[in-house]
Amino acid sequence: MQNPLKQSNLQFHLPDFPAIKPEHVMPALTELLRNYQEGLERWMEQGGDAGWAMVEQEIAWADALNRAWSPVSHLNSVADSKSLREAYNSGLERLTEHENWRQQHQGIFTAYRDMKDSESFRELSPVQQRIIELELRDFHLAGVDLPEKEQKTYRELVMRLSQLGSRFSENVIDATQAWTLHFDSTERLDGLPDAELKLLEGIAGAHGKDGWMVDLSAPCFHAIMTHANDQALRREVYTAYVTRASDQGPCAGQWDNMPLIEETLSLRHRLARLLGFDNYVEYALARRMADAPVSVVEFLDSLVSRARPAARQQHESLLDFAGKQGANLPLEAWDIAYWSERYRQAELHLSDEELKPFFSLERMLDALFFTAKQLFGIEVKLDESILTWHSDVRFYWLRDRSGQRIAGMYLDLFARKDKRGGAWMDVCLSRRRVNEALQLPMAYLTCNFAPPVGEQPCLLTHNDVQTLFHEFGHCLHHMLTTVDWPQVNGINSVEWDAVELPSQLLENWCWEDEILSRFALHYRDNTPMPGELKGRLLRSRSFQKALFLVRQLEYALCDLHLHLDYDPDNPANPLDVLGEIRKSVAVVPVPEWNRFLNGFSHIFGGGYAAGYYSYLWAEQLAADAWGKFCAEGSLDAKTGDALRREILSVGASRPAMESFVAFRGRPPEPGPLLKSYGLKET
Ligand SMILES: [Zn+2]
Repeated sequence: MQNPLKQSNLQFHLPDFPAIKPEHVMPALTELLRNYQEGLERWMEQGGDAGWAMVEQEIAWADALNRAWSPVSHLNSVADSKSLREAYNSGLERLTEHENWRQQHQGIFTAYRDMKDSESFRELSPVQQRIIELELRDFHLAGVDLPEKEQKTYRELVMRLSQLGSRFSENVIDATQAWTLHFDSTERLDGLPDAELKLLEGIAGAHGKDGWMVDLSAPCFHAIMTHANDQALRREVYTAYVTRASDQGPCAGQWDNMPLIEETLSLRHRLARLLGFDNYVEYALARRMADAPVSVVEFLDSLVSRARPAARQQHESLLDFAGKQGANLPLEAWDIAYWSERYRQAELHLSDEELKPFFSLERMLDALFFTAKQLFGIEVKLDESILTWHSDVRFYWLRDRSGQRIAGMYLDLFARKDKRGGAWMDVCLSRRRVNEALQLPMAYLTCNFAPPVGEQPCLLTHNDVQTLFHEFGHCLHHMLTTVDWPQVNGINSVEWDAVELPSQLLENWCWEDEILSRFALHYRDNTPMPGELKGRLLRSRSFQKALFLVRQLEYALCDLHLHLDYDPDNPANPLDVLGEIRKSVAVVPVPEWNRFLNGFSHIFGGGYAAGYYSYLWAEQLAADAWGKFCAEGSLDAKTGDALRREILSVGASRPAMESFVAFRGRPPEPGPLLKSYGLKET
């Protein structure tokens, strides 16, 4: 039997999902990696042309590898099984080894450097030149041009940092799982809506118990904080949650992450210095759109000065409301979400149950594809003949105005037992041209919506609708590319602080009246959403938004200053750094024993180190880009075309700033972002 992951079956075709078995993974990877590594070594030994032909040859090997790995990695997220997980982990290990081999390979590095220095470099197209320059940048950032001894230090630092990151995340997971609270009756759970009680019943069941159980998973924590009338219960759960993996709280000292935080900061600083940067922020920005640490600091500080007074006011209004309702003032940290929800209900009377009948999945997909057609002239059409990994999954083709197929995407939208939570977009195939043949870009769009029940179709919350638009924005970035080289097309190599521009921009259309009036129709009889309900929905968009913004600013500034101001001779206590930032940014008081940093996985266990600001940075780009649509008309095809031409189609084939300026006619400005948060510009 043929191995469906091997190159010969894959060239320019969609993965044969039903045929892929865990036992195919390692044989295919082994063969493809051998082809790559031996092929490249042979190329060099034989003194092969170290010009663009070598780059094309490397792309062919790397693309064959991606075509095999992408479906495996995707299945591991959406169709988990023990044997697949084992195959995936072994495969991942081999790929990491391969990456290390490639990044520190003197021969490949020299070949790229010679290409850059050669006469023929100037004859290459700007995109080809950029590919070579990005390769050289990444070689440099992986320490390839350091003396041998320092290269060894680099490898040791990277290895240790990766261990620290994993340990940090494991500690958070262990500490999260260690604490539960069981209830035989719902007496203390008064205030929780039925759906939340069901969640707690499910948690008890998963622990083999009757009754209800609270754990520290995010949905459960939020359910208690938002709805539980029992203040002592809220305090108990809050305490357990914000002291996870620390020296405080019910599990004090068991998984304390603080020593790992201190070592991580110290090693990141050493790594940056080794590579010739002043600090870790400078090092991280080498791959970003923001040009220098000072630009990021100024961006965040100016947002603080505008957001803080508004956030103060919003907090005052909340205190005022809670006081009138008989709450003890000032509110404690574990009272904020609870009273905010009450306040929201009093102000907006908005419930998901009231909105959901107007947001059936099928209608919202129509809305999404209608928006894409108006803006970019593309048709999105279902193709039921494509075989996938589950009967819920649908495949769609994108056709251009000429009727030509230009891309495809898998939509896997419902929650399942064997599927990772959350929503994301991923790359299945990248656009690539070989002679006359064109491999079309293919994307995965994954969500975890509640599946349809019985006769009732899948109904979404407005938040779900926003998620759908967001992820489709990422997909469009990938699918509308016109660049033929995978290194720099779609979302590949796009600066981290700019990659959320298309996705955050697309979210705007699900708030647009033109879209809502046309598509937010009751699933039973197609009656439009009442204007008064629509009004409340639109008002909810700005509810307590400045308070949300100052929280994001606190996290972003803390991440930034921990890395920027690090002094190896006299390292500051990270808790003090956060404390200082809170003094100048936060509006809502936090207890002294809160250990937020010990669970800040984004920057200590994930990829957001010196990068938490990226959320807001990209949001500024998206808000400013949206400003052009506001001026020209939200469904204006000319503006849509410009977005497609200058941003979506070019990917990372030029710097994100150049693309933005080409679209907007000027560099990004903060006004539209401030406006979207209801803040004044001066
Ligand atoms: Zn996103």
